[in-house]
Amino acid sequence: MPQLFQSETYLRHRLRADGRALRFQSTDLEQWQRWQQELRARIRGLLGLQRFLPTAMNSRVTEAVSCQGYVRERVEIETEPGVIMPLYVLIPEQLQGTAPAVLAPHGHGSGGKLAPAGVRATPAVAETIRQHNYDYGVQAVQRGYVVFCPDARGFGERRESLTASPESLLDSSCRQLAHMGLPLGMTVAGMWTWDLLVLLDYVATRPETQGERICCIGLSGGGLQTLWLAALDERVACAVISGYFYGVEDSLLHLSGNCDCNYIPHMWESADMGDVAALIAPRPLLIEAARQDPLNGPRGIDNVIEQCEITRRAYSLLGVEDRFEIDVFDGGHVWHGTVAFDWLDRWLRR
Ligand SMILES: [Zn+2]
Repeated sequence: MPQLFQSETYLRHRLRADGRALRFQSTDLEQWQRWQQELRARIRGLLGLQRFLPTAMNSRVTEAVSCQGYVRERVEIETEPGVIMPLYVLIPEQLQGTAPAVLAPHGHGSGGKLAPAGVRATPAVAETIRQHNYDYGVQAVQRGYVVFCPDARGFGERRESLTASPESLLDSSCRQLAHMGLPLGMTVAGMWTWDLLVLLDYVATRPETQGERICCIGLSGGGLQTLWLAALDERVACAVISGYFYGVEDSLLHLSGNCDCNYIPHMWESADMGDVAALIAPRPLLIEAARQDPLNGPRGIDNVIEQCEITRRAYSLLGVEDRFEIDVFDGGHVWHGTVAFDWLDRWLRR
């Protein structure tokens, strides 16, 4: 075949011409408040959150395992009628009274909650934890936080199909969920965000965390979940987004082989990631970005820094530039954690 008649150049042109209609460009507080309300309402609509059905949580603790320095409870909560979310709650053994809460959603290839919660019984999970420094839930409980590690829909115990091989534990059902949900007006990112909103309700019922601040941290798809949740709900007092912060043109349009869960119909017409993260201001936000992360796209870290500059302008407008930080490090698509936990201590333990 001598020539391909491709569409990418045209679609990039359409993104540049039609994209970011609700970009962050406020120059005073009144504009910022109006913009924040408008973009949040748009995002809720595009995620399909109005389509989800509230229900009683019917929470139940199904097991409690003593680990090194902490107890790991397995809990089930109902997030929509008949939709069960299993999660682990990691509680410091020495905890007296209460401690701040950390939500630790996972990304792909994690076995769902197993990797953040450091459950290494399956060799494939142990290996992914080693490769990605993936047990950030355990790292947080070791710092004295009460940690919540949920299974996102499509992962771990919430996959749509089971196969026998141990490696299949790392699989996900994002594609099937997208195909079933999108024609019903429900996105995968919306499903995950909804379930985390219910998890925030659950955190408020736990005696170990009552009245305490709540943070959300996550790598990759866990960063995706952190981004949407923190942008929409101010109960998230601070956030760490790792390996999931870049301009969509390079990283999701050009890298179009990314998983279906990244794609929300009409979203790019309204906002890029830097605009969405600007909704988190003035709450503290740390971005972890690795120089060699291939998901940054062909221009590498420049594609991250450009989005950070958009977000930083919101923090500047609000006079709180010290609450936005970037941890750029040499490495691949991994949780870094070097700055992150000092960052959490700084904002959650005041
Ligand atoms: Zn996915």
